Parts: sequence; structure tokens; C-alpha cells
Amino acid sequence: KPLVFSGVQPTGNLHLGNYLGAIRKFVALQETHDCIYCVVDLHSITAQLVHDDLVEQTRSITAAFLASGIDPKKHIVFNQSRVPQHAELAWIFNCVARIGWMNRMTQFKDKAGKDRENASLGLLAYPSLMAADILVYRATHVPVGDDQKQHLELTRDIAAKFNNDFSARIASLGLGVEMEMGEETVNGFFPLTEPLIEGPATRVMSLRDGSKKMSKSDPSDLSRINLTDDADTISKKIRKAKTDPEPLPSELDGLKERPEAENLVGIYAALSERSREDVIAEFGGQQFSAFKPALADLAVDRLAPIAAEMRRISADRAFVDSVLRDGGERAGAKAEATMKGVREIIGLLAD
Ligand code: ATP
Ligand code: MG
Repeated sequence: KPLVFSGVQPTGNLHLGNYLGAIRKFVALQETHDCIYCVVDLHSITAQLVHDDLVEQTRSITAAFLASGIDPKKHIVFNQSRVPQHAELAWIFNCVARIGWMNRMTQFKDKAGKDRENASLGLLAYPSLMAADILVYRATHVPVGDDQKQHLELTRDIAAKFNNDFSARIASLGLGVEMEMGEETVNGFFPLTEPLIEGPATRVMSLRDGSKKMSKSDPSDLSRINLTDDADTISKKIRKAKTDPEPLPSELDGLKERPEAENLVGIYAALSERSREDVIAEFGGQQFSAFKPALADLAVDRLAPIAAEMRRISADRAFVDSVLRDGGERAGAKAEATMKGVREIIGLLAD
């Protein structure tokens, strides 16, 4: 079976974008893939070092995974820092990747802001740790939102450079697998991982600004729908969502240049598991004053059961912790197997 890896940071509130762009896909992939889902706590200290409640946030993301339908027995759920091989491989990837590659990352530019010299070195190296998260399991597929596409490309670049720089040793140690790369077949240690980014909600936008993605770290709570928002809050946020004054168009094409309208239609389509064409066929020509309450009802209908289940699971802290402990042990065994090979390939002396 192909192997899936993905992660979510334990910072801030999980929102509709995380759910539609990532977690809902994690759930679906369990049928066809072996899956490893990680709460990436080491990533969450890159933008801000000190957090009041990292432990609680880690448990809360875990509860969201389980409440959404991830099965921690059939698959693996754990928090990143428990498996130190992630950080070990990230160091090696820091020596594989080039500074120029990191400087080009748009997430770094966005998160570092104007004072780039003062951003943490960890924020710059974030994609290197992300590549390590994926490749320490030699995962072949990674479900993510559209914002992570560039980091997945970098992951492939790192894997390709490692495979190429060490090709002779990989072959002589017999540690490679044959892989098609364009015209040629290479003997690679790391796979060239494919991102899984598709569907109507790969980039859910902020409710306050149609040019910014919905984010955990956005200071405005009105910009996002949190998985744990109650029905009144969800209705209020959708009612207040920024829109233009025109009614919804009667053709899909009419959404071009109308980012806020396009976003709300995309959210409706994703939540109702219908196509955007279908949604436009039903609501085209109607005012937002009619569409927004329908969207709010739908969102409440889909999110309330998850929030209730999250509360139920979170109440049993010992259970949540035991899931992470058990997942960490199973993930650690897989990661160590990869690292043994990496140490040998590089020539790091170990017994
Ligand atoms: P932050 O703003 O702190 O980076 P985030 O909302 O981007 O938080 P992450 O933990 O970085 O959350 O991302 C978890 C997953 O959710 C990733 O796969 C990411 O691509 C996806 N994701 C994040 N925001 C969106 C969005 N607005 N639409 C679709 N997917 C998203
Ligand atoms: Mg993010």
C-alpha cells in the first residue's frame, strides 16, 4: 500500500480550511493507504517560541483527528517531538538544501514579514523539517492544502539531491529502489513524494479578506470558522463575512474577480460534497442575504457533530495521551529503520 504522511501544527484554533483542505482528506485516505498523521509541535515553535498551552493544543489537535474519524489503531497518530529522528533527518536535510531554496519560500516571506533578519532560523528551515517529517517514513503521498504546494516541491528537490549526491553509495550498499525519473531510471533511497491537493476547498480564504487564506494565526477570529465554534458564532461569522453587493452569478464564470463570493460558493460545495456548478445552479441570481443563512445552516450541520465528539474525546486526557504514546512508538520504529540507512549512506559511524 502507498504510504501517506501529513501534519497539523498545534497552534491556534483549527478552522474550516484545515478541515476541508487537510483533515477531511486524511480521513478518506485511510481506506486505501497506510497513513501517518502527526501533530507537528516542533513546527509550531518556528514562528513563536513560547506558548502557554502547547501541551493542551497538542491534545486538542489529536482530539480533532480522532473526532473527524481517523482510526489510531489501523493507522498512526502521534506528536512529532516524540520521534527525535524527525529532527535528526532535518539536520541532514539542512545540509542538503541550499539557502537560496529556503529564501524563495513564500510562506517564509509571509510569516517573517518585513523584519526578515529577525525571524528565527527555524522559520527559514521549516521546509527542511517538513521534508524530514515526510521522508523519514519514505511517504509517497501527502494530502495538504494548496498553500503547502511549494514546500512539497522543495521536499522532492531535497529527495532528488540526496539520491543524486549519494547515488553511488546508495547503490553499493544496496539501499536503493528503482525509480522512474523522466526518461531515466534512478536508484533512489528517498521517493519523490506526490502532493494530494484537489477538490473545491484546497485554499479556503479568510472571511474578512478574499485575498488571504484562512489561518490559525490570523489575529481576527472573525476571519475564520473554528471547528469548535457554536452555532450562533458560526452564523454570526458568516453573516459578517465580507462580500460584494451583487447577487450570486448564474454561471460559474461569473465568480472570476469576485474572490469573496467564490470562496463562499467553494465552502458550500465542499461542505455539501457537491460541485460548484451545482451550487451555482441552485443559488445563482440570489442575494447573499439568502445564501448566507443556507451556508450557515450547512456549516453548523457538518461541524457541530465533530465539535461534540472533540469535547467528548478531550475529556479523557489519559486516552488521548495513550494514543500519542502508542503512535509515537510505532512511528519511531519506522523512522529509526530509515535513519539507520541514512547514517550508513552518509558515513556516520554507529554500532
Ligand atoms: P498557520 O497560519 O499557523 O500556519 P494554518 O491554518 O496554515 O496555521 P497549519 O497547521 O499550518 O495551519 O496547516 C495544516 C494543514 O491545513 C496543511 O495541510 C495546510 O495546507 C492546510 N490549510 C491551512 N490553511 C488552509 C486553508 N485556508 N485552506 C485549505 N487548507 C488549509
Ligand atoms: Mg500553515
